[in-house]
Amino acid sequence: MNEVKIPFLDLVTPHVALEEELVAVFKKALHSAGFIGGPMVEEFEKDFAAFCGVKHCIGVNSGTDALRFAFMAAGVGSGDIVITVPNTFIATTEAISQSGAAIEFVDIDERTYNMDTEKLADFLENQCHVDDKTGRPVCKKTGKSVAAVVPVHLYGQTADMDRITDLAAKYHLVIIEDACQAHGAEYLSRKEDRWVKAGSIGRAAAFSFYPGKNLGACGEGGAVTTNDAEIAAKIRTLRDHGQSKKYYHDIEGYNGRLDAIQAGILQVKLRHLSLWNESRREAAGRYHALLRGIAGVVAPYEPAWAKCVYHLYVIRNRRRDELQKYLGDKSIFTALHYPVPLHLQKSYERLGIKEGTYPVAEKAAKEILSLPMYPGLEEVQQERVAREISAFLGKV
Ligand SMILES: *Cc1c(COP(=O)(O)O)cnc(C)c1O
Repeated sequence: MNEVKIPFLDLVTPHVALEEELVAVFKKALHSAGFIGGPMVEEFEKDFAAFCGVKHCIGVNSGTDALRFAFMAAGVGSGDIVITVPNTFIATTEAISQSGAAIEFVDIDERTYNMDTEKLADFLENQCHVDDKTGRPVCKKTGKSVAAVVPVHLYGQTADMDRITDLAAKYHLVIIEDACQAHGAEYLSRKEDRWVKAGSIGRAAAFSFYPGKNLGACGEGGAVTTNDAEIAAKIRTLRDHGQSKKYYHDIEGYNGRLDAIQAGILQVKLRHLSLWNESRREAAGRYHALLRGIAGVVAPYEPAWAKCVYHLYVIRNRRRDELQKYLGDKSIFTALHYPVPLHLQKSYERLGIKEGTYPVAEKAAKEILSLPMYPGLEEVQQERVAREISAFLGKV
């Protein structure tokens, strides 16, 4: 078989297209020896804050650092519970644990794969009682106080934030958005009657610039966005060894800075992000049309209140493993996001959560399949993907 490969992701083409500009960034750093901090980082932070519609952006070393620093700066830590979903990348929960807090999950919505806000409400209302002093819910089972909720805008689509912000206001919870897959995604807030950007809704939000993300560095990178000046100041200190001034350490911090070369690269690439996201949305529209007629394939659901940036295009099928293998044999590369929900990972055996506890996430993990998706994915490629899926399903 020598069919032309359809890669899952193409990270080469966009970088080659911008080669001159990207090399110029490297040369600028080389000639000024401005490798850490400085104007390249500050300029990117300003541009990304404007892109997200927030006052502050703090560049950090990774999306994981962004999450961890956001919890710490918001005062979430030991003795607290942080609620998130089981269908996410482990960085979300690593950051919760590493800030000293305890992880609690609520199941996902079957159609959007994001947090089921009714289940969040149910947990807060029925499995907690409200502490008179703090107004915060206290988990009946563990006696710990719920301090924060982390909606993950998975696959490039925001969670249904209105309900989450209502619940957070009612129960005095901090919202930290995990926007690591959602650079540029938009949400129609019916409460505010306007579209808002992912990363501008919670107290703070975390972005990752891992190479494969919609906005990716040529290495590691991340950022926190926030409208809260105090949180921004704390994160600037946390990322830089807790220093307010060189060698004057107010607290113990981390080495969690975004380096200047990555910031410069990100600044160049940010100028293209809206077009790249539009290209992903066009590709998603073509997939929708091509897959519509194929029985047994569940295409992604985009509610009227969401403008998804399709970090991933995730379909569902009962015979997912066989389908993935079939496509792989035809040189069509796919991936799973994610094959094992977090509560069933070996790393979380200590939580003692049994299979069956989050049935929607568990079922999805067995059926979801991420198809090739990247800016510039061509219609003929997508037609072949759809043809092969159809051929596989015809062969029952
Ligand atoms: C990529 C990702 C992260 C972590 O980002 P890193 O930059 O790799 O640390 C966190 N959460 C989600 C949902 C992600 O996709």
